[in-house]
Amino acid sequence: MRTRSSLNLLGCLLATAAFEAGAVYAQNAPPPDHPSVTVKGQTYTPRSILARNMGSDADQTTQFPPHKVIGNIYYVGTKTLSSFLIVTPQGNILMDSTYERNVPVIKKSVEDLGFKFSDVKILLGNHAHGDHQEGDAAVKQLTGAQVIVMAEDVPALQAMKPGGKEHPIDKVIHDGDKVTLGNMTLTAHLTPGHTRGCTSWTTTVQDGGRSYNVLLGCSLRPPATISPEVAAEFERSYKYVRTLPCDVQVGDHGAQYNMLEKYAKLKAGGPNPFVDKANCFLEADIEEAMFHAIMAEQAAAKK
Ligand SMILES: [Zn+2]
Repeated sequence: MRTRSSLNLLGCLLATAAFEAGAVYAQNAPPPDHPSVTVKGQTYTPRSILARNMGSDADQTTQFPPHKVIGNIYYVGTKTLSSFLIVTPQGNILMDSTYERNVPVIKKSVEDLGFKFSDVKILLGNHAHGDHQEGDAAVKQLTGAQVIVMAEDVPALQAMKPGGKEHPIDKVIHDGDKVTLGNMTLTAHLTPGHTRGCTSWTTTVQDGGRSYNVLLGCSLRPPATISPEVAAEFERSYKYVRTLPCDVQVGDHGAQYNMLEKYAKLKAGGPNPFVDKANCFLEADIEEAMFHAIMAEQAAAKK
């Protein structure tokens, strides 16, 4: 028989999991509409950033036209939740399964591009929140892919059990480790703060006879309340991420790299709009400004 305290603990864990998943956070308890920061003429609040990232419930689950980003990297996510397919002669890598209910959407996008979902050999994650990695078990079930995760995100992933399914973890990596499949190598960079194991990935692709550095960045969005421990992680991550080689930056939400605007330019033709070195760290600028504004607000509240 369950004791009262274990039930309370279960409730607490469930509440934490729901909060982490982002969905409940987005729908029921939006973050505050202060402080506000202005970066490159655009004003943001914690609430507007989350709204920009998540869009509506329908945006989170509706297929966005799958498209080539650059070289052998393709977008296969929904309107607001990114998922990337990295194609190699030895099979493919999928980055981010998103919500479990989106796995059929991602599968369809992969197939619409002419690839087989069963060719996904490796599943990587960006960070242990439900809107990015809840579907890992479903992808593993459909493809048999090896699920590789960052050590610091293991506890949060183990707590992520859609429908009671265990979160698959086949290999645990650490900061600086490389993942290779076919002719592609991705390097995992620990950029914590948003989650303990938030991972920004770098790789190099060939396109039109040129080589490009691609940064698949992890969210740098600070929470509404920042603990000293998490503050130290963010301080390091904002500095570190700017040292990464980058010609093309993408993120775990399209809004982190102006996907809609760039996709419209892609459709119009001309040079690849995703090659945008000048804006590689715009998202870091926005989140770092917000981080400092929240820290200042917290410090003022203590006085
Ligand atoms: Zn997140």
